[in-house]
Amino acid sequence: MKKTTLDKLKVGSNAKINDVSGEEGLRHHLLEMGLIPGTVVELVKTAPLGDPLELKVRDYALTIRKADAANIQITDIDKHEVKAYENKDIENVEHPGFGEKKCRIIEANCNSNCEECRRNMGKRRHHRRGNNEEPFMFALVGNQNSGKTTLFNQLTGANQHVGNFPGVTVEHKEGIIKNMPNLKLTDLPGIYSLSPYSTEEMVTRDFILKQNPDCIINILDATNIERNMYLTLQLIELNVPMVLALNMMDEVRENSGTIMINNLEALLGIPVVPISASKNEGIGELLEHVISVASQGIRPKRFDFCDPFGDSVEQAVHRCIHAVKHLIEDHSRNVRIPPRFAATKIIEGDIKLLNSLGLDKNEIDTIEHLIKQMEDESGMDRQSAIVDMRFNFIENLCLNTVQKPCESKTRLKTIAADKILTGKYTAIPAFLGIIGMIFWMTFSLLGPILADGLDYLIGNLTEVTDSLLTTYGLNPVMHSLIIDGIFAGVGSCAILFPIINGR
Ligand code: GDP
Ligand code: MG
Repeated sequence: MKKTTLDKLKVGSNAKINDVSGEEGLRHHLLEMGLIPGTVVELVKTAPLGDPLELKVRDYALTIRKADAANIQITDIDKHEVKAYENKDIENVEHPGFGEKKCRIIEANCNSNCEECRRNMGKRRHHRRGNNEEPFMFALVGNQNSGKTTLFNQLTGANQHVGNFPGVTVEHKEGIIKNMPNLKLTDLPGIYSLSPYSTEEMVTRDFILKQNPDCIINILDATNIERNMYLTLQLIELNVPMVLALNMMDEVRENSGTIMINNLEALLGIPVVPISASKNEGIGELLEHVISVASQGIRPKRFDFCDPFGDSVEQAVHRCIHAVKHLIEDHSRNVRIPPRFAATKIIEGDIKLLNSLGLDKNEIDTIEHLIKQMEDESGMDRQSAIVDMRFNFIENLCLNTVQKPCESKTRLKTIAADKILTGKYTAIPAFLGIIGMIFWMTFSLLGPILADGLDYLIGNLTEVTDSLLTTYGLNPVMHSLIIDGIFAGVGSCAILFPIINGR
């Protein structure tokens, strides 16, 4: 077993992460991608020039820069030491019409008198929005490439406009849901976490905490659920009404995967709706759930992902989170930040949030002691401990609810093409071959045919115009300007267009 850094790992080899270094923001970012000490990674491949690297972490693919990988200390391990992903034998569940269940609240024909609604009433401006006074406001939140824009377009059609958040160059789109003038939807930037290191993540966090959307639609790529769920846990901690839209279920279904929607819903404590945004399936049902959750202000039923009955590490993290949470409860409620969210973020080292709570020195010292105690007891640093807690929860959740789809046909084709186009010895010849083909088509095949066609057309048009101008006896100077200047001059340039465009 050899100690080295991740950038030096050989393609096809496995390694265990020992430590992650780098400046604070980068380190936290790497941890949040699942690169936590103790995790096993495989280097799947590198780009032709060796950078970036594609890794397999916790059964999902991750691409990182070589320079960032140099911050990750590893120990080489043999392949047989790698624990394979346990694909539990989950009974295949059909998803007819993408909705194996109806919204219970709608079924119960809730008239805001049910116990659930009464419990939630008063906690939020119940039914304040969504009637004629003010439109409901929904926010679409998810990872990049989870299908946010596709779903946004399906829901709003052409009723949308793009704007910038005040003071930053981060874009967001707003739109009115088709045929529902009372429902406004905002497409927020694609993010992976709610940490304070990127503008996109800060903007999303502030939007949710300050604009108070009536419901968050958290869209997930169901084919990459472990990676996408990391953000979901943090959104749940924000304790805002939310619905999970499990997108790309068409791909899961086509590749024999299965997700136990009802179990997932029970374990997460929020409604989960399987959809396919690109195929427009399940969207109506999603909207029903969102309206229902928003109108009754139904918040997540759980927001605790630490395990009081886990191993000693998990118990230490649990005790720390709850101790910090109780200590700051009054302050965080005063500034309208959910205590559980505030506690985990403070432990992770979110100075901005810590300062916003207005804690006194004694309280800050107590928090530092609690975190130090947790670090000693768990043997993990504060950031790794919290990230590890979230990934442990996700791992367990997926083990009990997800039967992984096999590789899709499109992905297999992509892998085959990648082998040639990015292969160590084949990439440069493939690149030269493609460029040569484009030149050949431009100068020898399509270009000359189009140029000849255009030449023929312009020649005929010139003749017709010339004879018409002669017939009408136009002034010879104007005649020469049109025929010799415009037609001959512009025409001779125009026939080059196909070749220039081809290039
Ligand atoms: P965004 O980055 O979250 O806005 O994601 P996009 O809406 O741009 O979608 C990313 C990619 O996923 C696009 O190529 C979409 O066509 C594709 N996509 C979106 N929804 C689905 C879906 O339900 N099924 C499948 N198979 N592909 C989808
Ligand atoms: Mg998008």
